[in-house]
Amino acid sequence: MMQPSMRNAYLDALGIDRWVPRQEVVPGGDNRDNSAVAAGAPSPVISAELSRLSPPGTTSIPADIDWEPLREMVAGCIACDLCKTRTQTVFGVGNTRADWLIIGEAPGAEEDRQGEPFVGRAGQLLNAMLLAIGLPRDSVFIANVLKCRPPGNRDPRPEEVARCLPFLSAQIALLKPKIMLAVGRIAAQNLLATDAPLARLRGKLHTFGAANTPLVITYHPAYLLRAPADKRKAWEDLKFARATYARVTGGGNA
Ligand code: SF4
Repeated sequence: MMQPSMRNAYLDALGIDRWVPRQEVVPGGDNRDNSAVAAGAPSPVISAELSRLSPPGTTSIPADIDWEPLREMVAGCIACDLCKTRTQTVFGVGNTRADWLIIGEAPGAEEDRQGEPFVGRAGQLLNAMLLAIGLPRDSVFIANVLKCRPPGNRDPRPEEVARCLPFLSAQIALLKPKIMLAVGRIAAQNLLATDAPLARLRGKLHTFGAANTPLVITYHPAYLLRAPADKRKAWEDLKFARATYARVTGGGNA
């Protein structure tokens, strides 16, 4: 568990007031029924629902794929033109038995170099945001909608998202998260199949898939670096996500 002094230091780094929870969350706990996870099998219910994100004609992934074959599929993917400009694919990182799934937009320059999502300054801020609610980076799973970097950090194109979303769908089906936190407009809009602005998507509880997995929306840390005044609103989102997680797990651990 993170020491209170360390949490306070992260909250100070975020520039937000300290929050004293009624009940401490012990990070790294695993509250799921592990039987299905151990078998490595995606939930049929979630898999069926996720077909919405994987329409016919897009990247085809075996329904019973496991983590390593999926990782290899992503590494060798040439389904869209981003394969021509990437240094490497960025599959995702973290605990494959995590309750929390953090979903961002796409790799940036540093992520493309290192092969890991959310590194560099935005990654440091995301780590601080997660730690502020008691979640060390290695206790969650972090992935992006796109696995390859769009040149110049431009927005993903619809055809690129369509080709790549099946990979995220497979990751969700394997992980079976208890809660999902989408950071930024691109991730939120694609998960919710909407073009509503981020301001209308924040501050309310969404659900994802037939399993009704709770989905909370907040700002992308790269945006918060440019607009630090909104860190306070992001903190409200994080507290909301943490409270939601505690509710759905009966006050369980992260
Ligand atoms: S962005 Fe996704 S679909 Fe496009 S080449 Fe990379 S892994 Fe494949």
